Amino acid sequence: MSDDQSLLEVETLTTTFSTDDGTLTAVDGIDFSVDTGETVCIVGESGSGKTVATESVTKIINTPPGKIEGTVRYKGRDLLSIPESELRQVRGSEIAHIFQNPQEAMNHCYTVGWQITEALQIHRDVSDEEARTKAVDLMDRVGIANASSRFDDYPHEFSGGQKQRIMIAMALVSDPDLLIADEPTTALDVTVQAQILELLDDLQDEFEMGILFVTHDLGVVAQIADRIVVMYAGKVMERGSVLDIFDNPKHPYTRQLLECLPEFGGTGGGIPGALPDPHDPPDGCRFAPRCEYAEEACRTGEQPEEVEVETGQRASCVHYGPGGDPSVVGGGEFGPGGETGAVDGDSEVGPADD
Ligand code: SF4
Repeated sequence: MSDDQSLLEVETLTTTFSTDDGTLTAVDGIDFSVDTGETVCIVGESGSGKTVATESVTKIINTPPGKIEGTVRYKGRDLLSIPESELRQVRGSEIAHIFQNPQEAMNHCYTVGWQITEALQIHRDVSDEEARTKAVDLMDRVGIANASSRFDDYPHEFSGGQKQRIMIAMALVSDPDLLIADEPTTALDVTVQAQILELLDDLQDEFEMGILFVTHDLGVVAQIADRIVVMYAGKVMERGSVLDIFDNPKHPYTRQLLECLPEFGGTGGGIPGALPDPHDPPDGCRFAPRCEYAEEACRTGEQPEEVEVETGQRASCVHYGPGGDPSVVGGGEFGPGGETGAVDGDSEVGPADD
């Protein structure tokens, strides 16, 4: 990997599924990257394509019915074109996944210690004793109190938050360089959610991992992200640093997502209306059917090109494109009196209660 290369570089990623109702396009030509030691959050409502996008990175989607196109360069290698045996090696040992529901991901017939050592010995040639020592160390590192005496306990003897910590320990057994975390805190209460996010933050520093984090919850994003990619109906609507997105969101969709948060005066509910049918998305901007600023130009052709609206911040909206008028969609003003100041050092946006 050269110095100017990102750990992960995804270009024109398109993932479709063959269904009885025709071709469903879940992800439609998106780009994103993750650097070493950086946390990139892909955010959007359920059905926006964010989970499919991250599952396409390591091809953990069944193909067929899925079909993945584009380029996924990890340390310079295109994961979409290497042999399956090589990809399997990358999958557990270099790129690890953690998922929303540890309940489903764990085997309830085996002790957690056995499951961590099993995961470890798949990747490393270590003795049973060394594996146990490492597993206890990892359990301790992810905050399981009395790790040594809990080693032989079964999953049902742990709380939901502890199970998620154990899943994180299992993901870390191979010292991955990239961790893909898909809604890992959604099933947890607010306090435990905050603890898990803090843990991931600490582990990232310690393990120098890149993290690709998927969530529908902008409250969570505020706590963990360096950069944010906002997805809607398979397309990227906006991207920028966490400060850009929270203090000066440009795209109407991002603004509406933020306005749902209690911290921004919302009720915690969602945006009115529904995402378009992925079998038959609308012409023009995918968000047009729900956008209060939509006009004729928004409803023809393709999704508007993403354009740079501020340094490092890009939005896909006709009003920021050539001949557009940003003031139509609020320009640089957002929230009461313009900039919100919602993320400034210590975030004022706390974890949202799912
Ligand atoms: S392109 Fe049109 S519909 Fe899409 S976000 Fe901009 S104003 Fe709204």
